[in-house]
Amino acid sequence: MNFFISFLLCIIVILGNAQTISKPKLVVGVVIDQMRYDFLVRYKSNYGQNGFNRLLNQSFVATNMHYNYAPTYTGPGHTSIYSGTTPAIHGIAGNNWIQDGVKNMYCSQDDSVKTVGANGKAGEMSPKNLKTTTICDQIKLFSNQRSKVIGVALKDRGAILPAGHTANAAYWYDSKSGNWISSTFYMDKLPNWLTNFNGQNWSKKLLAKGWNTFLPIDKYINSTVDDNHWEDKICKGGSCCGEPKASNGEPTSHCNSFPYSFPEEDMNDVIKVTPFGNTLTTMMAKEVIKNENLGNGAETDVLAVSYSSTDYVGHSFGPYSKESEDTYVRLDREIEDLLNYLDGHIGKENYILFLSADHGVQDVPGFSQSLKIPAGTIDDKKQKGNFNQLLKEKLGIDSLIKHIINEQILLDNDLISKNKLTAEQICDVLNAQDSKSLKGIHGFYSFKMLSTSPIPNNIKEKLINGYCPRRSGEITILLEPNYMSFSNKGTTHGSPYSHDTHIPFILFGSKIKPKQSNQLYNITDIAPTLSSLLGVLQPNGCIGKPIVEVEFLR
Ligand code: ZN
Ligand code: ZN
Repeated sequence: MNFFISFLLCIIVILGNAQTISKPKLVVGVVIDQMRYDFLVRYKSNYGQNGFNRLLNQSFVATNMHYNYAPTYTGPGHTSIYSGTTPAIHGIAGNNWIQDGVKNMYCSQDDSVKTVGANGKAGEMSPKNLKTTTICDQIKLFSNQRSKVIGVALKDRGAILPAGHTANAAYWYDSKSGNWISSTFYMDKLPNWLTNFNGQNWSKKLLAKGWNTFLPIDKYINSTVDDNHWEDKICKGGSCCGEPKASNGEPTSHCNSFPYSFPEEDMNDVIKVTPFGNTLTTMMAKEVIKNENLGNGAETDVLAVSYSSTDYVGHSFGPYSKESEDTYVRLDREIEDLLNYLDGHIGKENYILFLSADHGVQDVPGFSQSLKIPAGTIDDKKQKGNFNQLLKEKLGIDSLIKHIINEQILLDNDLISKNKLTAEQICDVLNAQDSKSLKGIHGFYSFKMLSTSPIPNNIKEKLINGYCPRRSGEITILLEPNYMSFSNKGTTHGSPYSHDTHIPFILFGSKIKPKQSNQLYNITDIAPTLSSLLGVLQPNGCIGKPIVEVEFLR
């Protein structure tokens, strides 16, 4: 008896004051790739009542949640949502990084596994580089593996990293074959239902009518003119806006305004850069729920779905484009479709759904400049040459900088130690340049210098939280807001500033009390909030806290 009481006390201590709700049959995690917070409200008038607006009216909504680290990219973003920690601990230091200063590594790369469902290397992926568990792993551990966990996204990293190490499956899209695929990490052969689904050539069917706006284009009053000089083409190196290719293989002229049509041979690939990639993702999510019987067992199952097309469209056209507005207006209808499906198949009382994003996005520099807002681009390759030249002049040694990646500098550490130099000395030389040479750059800080450098704590903390030894560079390059290492068309993300860190968080379920909160929350608070809700252990590297404002209806 004594043992039983101490056991109970132990459990109470472990879970703290956590409130749990009766076990849901299914947890649905929805990540919208590149969904900056303002997209939830700025496009509101063109959303219907049963998609984003249903979620806004019937959920706990955090209006001020931020990423608490940089670099803010897709791999780290998905991982941080589900693991409750940052790249410093979970190890997903970028989409790509240089491992131990020598080896190029992609975040979900695993050379020991093979593609399942297509030919080629697109399936040689697993969560091997992820150092911690995710909330999905904890749900599996809690139920002694009886829960089912499946990840789904066009992007492999959007499916694999959330679902964690113990997932039953992760499925992603192979743009060569147009198939949903997996890897031998999960299975030796695709399930029959998926082979049949792949056999339907959905990408070609969904793109057959091209892409025009869902609502009349004059309803899209929250985005700028459609034809402008700062948008990128819908895809590069192909004829995928339906125009003949030039002799250099590039699209000829306008591939950046409505309406779009696509030649059949490009459809498997170009679907990613249209809202129909999201349609295909919803179709796949519903197929998974139906055929894998998610939400039908005795334990809580998880579907981790990520909508990737918002990011592809966002990079090419930017957050004030007609293309982005149309993509979100259509995504709103996808969310409605998913919610209706869950209501019908799982039951309103039986699932909880959360929605967030893996990072935000910066405004397109050309667009900002047209409005006289400071913005610009930086060319990493050119910078590397210039900086190495300067260091050679000042320190007498050539090629001290080996790589610039993820807004970080990797030094040649053999040269550094042979010449008894330090990263701090390198920063001093680089920081001593004049304003013209440093246009768009706030400064260079070694990770050792960061804690004592005169920059705001909030920014400092984000940079430190993003530093993973042996995967990150020794020096961080802090750019100015709205400056980016990118081409001069389209836009990107990656910085510690609010355009990249401010994202939505919505927690929806029939027993969750609707409420809006403008308290500051971190992305790392999502996983511990779910842990607390479900009464399972937090992921093992978790640094966040449960959101205690989340209340339940009894
Ligand atoms: Zn992303
Ligand atoms: Zn992106």
